Amino acid sequence: MSKKAIVTGGSRGIGAAIVETLTREGFEVVFSYLSNKESAENLVQKITDQGGRAAAFQLDTSDYESAVNFVNQAKEFLTEVDVLINNAGITRDKSLFIMQKDEWDSVINTNLSGYFNVTRQLIGYFFKNKRGCIINVSSVSGLVGIAGQTNYCASKSGIIGFTRALAKEAAKLGIPVNCIAPGYIDTEMTRQLPEKHLEEIKNMIPMHRIGKAQEVADLVSFLCSEKARYITGQVFAIDGGLTA
Ligand code: NAP
Repeated sequence: MSKKAIVTGGSRGIGAAIVETLTREGFEVVFSYLSNKESAENLVQKITDQGGRAAAFQLDTSDYESAVNFVNQAKEFLTEVDVLINNAGITRDKSLFIMQKDEWDSVINTNLSGYFNVTRQLIGYFFKNKRGCIINVSSVSGLVGIAGQTNYCASKSGIIGFTRALAKEAAKLGIPVNCIAPGYIDTEMTRQLPEKHLEEIKNMIPMHRIGKAQEVADLVSFLCSEKARYITGQVFAIDGGLTA
């Protein structure tokens, strides 16, 4: 029987790579988009054409009611859920002395409270079934401070604390909860950075290159496989050696 996964923020970037990888491996997947309905629908079509099964629904992680509706729609489509991948996230980079309250709030509400809002809808279900697996996408910005990212670093560090605490709540039921911390990965998020800044970043990375979304998806695929069943409460950096 195929396994079933929910992926937030699957319409592009790392999330889309995770969705494609899991469906190639036989998972049925429900993923979310915020506003890119067309790219979400194109991805569903691509997966369907390849013989897979997927659906996309709208979700604003910062809105609790939206998370309730999204998870209900996902459960209806999948009937069962084995894996949750909290991936949706945003940046609003700015030095703190000019950061506006809405730039702070939107990042914390989407990235950190958003993971609570979605996970809260599934955790009771996982506990009841004594089955499930949660992977939270944090960032190297959750491991080290980066100037201009007080809001983003706070949200991504928060996700690490959330993961570790929840891992201890879920361990007795055999439910792994882990975190991944990507470095600089080639997606629209990093394509916003000026070319000169990206070159400086590449020079700082021991492997001298930006990572690929597929490389992150491969780590996620391992963590939600049976091969990783004794791993919980951990943070896996995937960053070309940046935080080594
Ligand atoms: P991305 O290409 O910018 O895609 C972001 C995804 O999140 C999209 O699917 C977007 O939906 C969705 N989204 C945005 N705001 C949302 C909201 N309020 N509610 C629900 N969904 C929302 O980002 P990415 O680079 O793939 O990043 C994915 C995750 O990896 C994020 O958590 C990010 O912090 C983390 N990460 C990325 C990097 C990197 O270098 N790229 C490094 C470390 C960590 P729409 O398409 O509809 O807008």
